[in-house]
Amino acid sequence: MSDASQKEKLRQHFARRVTTQARVVLDTWQKIHTDTDSFAAHREELLSASDKLVRYAQRFEMSGHADAGSQILRIMQAWPADRSLDDSTERQLQDAIDALARSTLRRTDQSNTEAPHQFRRTPVYIALANGEMANRLIRQLEFFGFRASAFDSADELIEACALHKPETILMDVNFGGSVNAGISTIEHLQERHDTPIPIIFMSDEDGTIQTRLRASRCGGEEFFYPAVDPGQLIEKIETYTHGNTVEPYRVLVLDDSRAQAKFMETVLKRAGMTAHIITDPMEIIDSLDMFSPEIIVLDMYMPGCTGMEIARVIRQQDRFHSVPIIYLSAEDDVTKQLHAMSLGGDDFLTKPIDPKHLIATLHNRGRRARSLLALMIRDSLTGLYNHTHTLYLLDQEIVRARQKNQSLCFAMIDIDYFKKVNDTFGHPIGDRVLRSLSMFLKQRLRKTDHIGRYGGEEFAIILPDTRPSDARNVLNEIRERFAELLQPAGDREFNVTFSCGVTAWDNEPSQTLCERADRALYTSKEYGRNCVTLADN
Ligand code: GH3
Ligand code: MG
Ligand code: MG
Repeated sequence: MSDASQKEKLRQHFARRVTTQARVVLDTWQKIHTDTDSFAAHREELLSASDKLVRYAQRFEMSGHADAGSQILRIMQAWPADRSLDDSTERQLQDAIDALARSTLRRTDQSNTEAPHQFRRTPVYIALANGEMANRLIRQLEFFGFRASAFDSADELIEACALHKPETILMDVNFGGSVNAGISTIEHLQERHDTPIPIIFMSDEDGTIQTRLRASRCGGEEFFYPAVDPGQLIEKIETYTHGNTVEPYRVLVLDDSRAQAKFMETVLKRAGMTAHIITDPMEIIDSLDMFSPEIIVLDMYMPGCTGMEIARVIRQQDRFHSVPIIYLSAEDDVTKQLHAMSLGGDDFLTKPIDPKHLIATLHNRGRRARSLLALMIRDSLTGLYNHTHTLYLLDQEIVRARQKNQSLCFAMIDIDYFKKVNDTFGHPIGDRVLRSLSMFLKQRLRKTDHIGRYGGEEFAIILPDTRPSDARNVLNEIRERFAELLQPAGDREFNVTFSCGVTAWDNEPSQTLCERADRALYTSKEYGRNCVTLADN
């Protein structure tokens, strides 16, 4: 190896160490938010993690990381050890953390194919004997917003897991050279963790029941034999990393006591939920419309009306028929509680509220409500909104755009020559292309955009508060990137493109807007496909 390439290799090795440490800092910051009860322990953890980061970054001359780390340390020093996090410190820290996240995402050693800007928090580790395949997978995973790292030896993998527990590990059964060495490594690794890491095993030579059993006993969730199809693999990885992408629950709280409302807001925010707080019951209708809560928390007694009366009014609207409603009150009379529940409540929490209990209740209710709702509003193949719900969302966004006097864009996407994909590679591969486009869109669009599966291989996208030229640019960028993505089919690979029509809402009914987007899409098809057309207003 030449001197220069040796040096480059070392540089990359050290750079990895710094970015790994930066991720420890980012994770600890997350913990401060999600586990408020042990903030003191996490505060210490954040201090020592940032300190280590600064030392590493200075030693390896990575100034972006060093600056961000020093900034975090400075702010931390002004945060007294015995006090929980106040708003101003939180804001300052968040800014410094954002700067660090940006430095960590800036990649110097990548080619010009750009991965999405937002990476998921937890990494995926890859331990394969075939280094070339590992690298190919990493590139594919990065396209979908995963952060993946490959390892050359069991020791490196173990060290990385100790620093940062991965979401999942893709493991060669024989990783390390000898028969079943990969399984032994995992057995050893799992002993160090209270909750096992889900493992995806693969082997090209051994699919016997003995090996499969041993793999399954140490946390093997999947076993690929004899060969692994990267497309299938990425989908599996996506299922084991689902926890990362859960959107925060939208919780509406109505409590006439300002202090209580403020307290609730803090608790909910710390738990990573999106809270909308009102203290005047008369604001409830507007808040339902504007905020579309998934869970509603109502104070039982307020001047002018009771929580039960408000619950009845909420339940009179079809679309809030199954939204969970949780009452808060000092009421510990069981009969009264039962009566309140019979009038449309789902749970009853007694004041003073225990934050842990509140958050657990909200999580349970939220999860159940979402899975019920998903059956009604989501497409089962892609998990995107179905046709009906997409149109409902479009109507809702039109109302919002009118009220706020904002621009709103709507786009239709249709995959090019999709019939040929099915004919050449088979329907299951066609389905996988649909899922890959939907994952791609989810990863690259904003959380506030709505993505629907409009029909077979057609997708619709609603972009609130977006100017038409911006919408066109974003979609064009997505189109270019998607066209580069290699779609795996067994040992072959192919590319897929799509055409798109986009248009800005022009004070018209949703149906007219859809027709105009559809016409623009048709223009793209006529124009030769693989392009985006912006309709004139
Ligand atoms: P164009 O570029 O003009 O859009 O050509 P196309 O072949 O994409 O369009 P066409 O509308 O002729 O064909 C769409 C194909 O999409 C036909 C249908 O079999 C396929 N398709 C629709 N839904 C699904 C699905 O859920 N899974 C799979 N694999 N294929 C689907
Ligand atoms: Mg079509
Ligand atoms: Mg098509």
